[in-house]
Amino acid sequence: MIVEVDKESGFCPGVINAIRKAEDELKTRPMLYCLGDIVHNGQEVKRLEEQGLKTIDHASLLQLRDTKVLLRAHGEPPSTYELAQQQGIEIVDATCPVVLQLQKKVRRMYETEPDSQIVIYGKHGHAEVNGLVGQTHSTAIVIENESELSKIDFSRPVRLFSQTTMSVDNFRQLSLSIGQRMKDGATLQTFDTICRQVANRIPHMREFASRHDAILFVSGKKSSNGKALFEVCRSVNPHSYQVSSLEDVDPSFWEGAQSVGICGATSTPRWQMDQVADLVKSFNR
Ligand code: SF4
Repeated sequence: MIVEVDKESGFCPGVINAIRKAEDELKTRPMLYCLGDIVHNGQEVKRLEEQGLKTIDHASLLQLRDTKVLLRAHGEPPSTYELAQQQGIEIVDATCPVVLQLQKKVRRMYETEPDSQIVIYGKHGHAEVNGLVGQTHSTAIVIENESELSKIDFSRPVRLFSQTTMSVDNFRQLSLSIGQRMKDGATLQTFDTICRQVANRIPHMREFASRHDAILFVSGKKSSNGKALFEVCRSVNPHSYQVSSLEDVDPSFWEGAQSVGICGATSTPRWQMDQVADLVKSFNR
């Protein structure tokens, strides 16, 4: 039986950069705080925790003084930087450059067009979205799907941005729906700020998943990118299974298969996909 690990799956540059920064810091100090999970993958978080990374939430950040805290790739609102400064906390900023650019764009729009409504297509409560909303003093409107369009005043200008990991097709559809509702004289500008690291994987993932009899998609349960890419696999190959650790791997997944494809999300480490591949192979020796 052929077992193939997808070469294009695995960490995106933003996640690679954040993990490298954490590992570099941990070479010179025994412990480093990280605000939120450094990556939506429990196994990789555990590996880094064994090296001294300590994941904290915003409530715990309030208690810290005179230490170092790493900000992960998703980015943070300005209030987090202000708080850190007040409390003598040194920031190790691992915000992805793509997210930083988007934050700057949103901030510039907010400052130069105070009468426009800034709309963010993204997931409520997601760290990246919170970081974007923070650029607008919390005035931006977050829309996760079309059912929330009533939050927008269509008689006023609308400036639409997207969280970096949303679907390009859905963004286009949302842009059209907003455009159709705009009242005379009110302008709509849309900014496709979706990261192609994610979007470009979709056609490849379709091809990879359709090429194998069974697919094991390796991803943490909290990864939204993982959920989306897994659905892509399942849409072309019904024998697709999501596994978040070796314990989830079940030989019935590839019963009768001649080939098994192993792939994952932008938050899935290569070592984890290799481990799953080795396990699959071990059942077939
Ligand atoms: S998906 Fe894109 S924007 Fe998000 S962390 Fe990775 S490279 Fe950066």
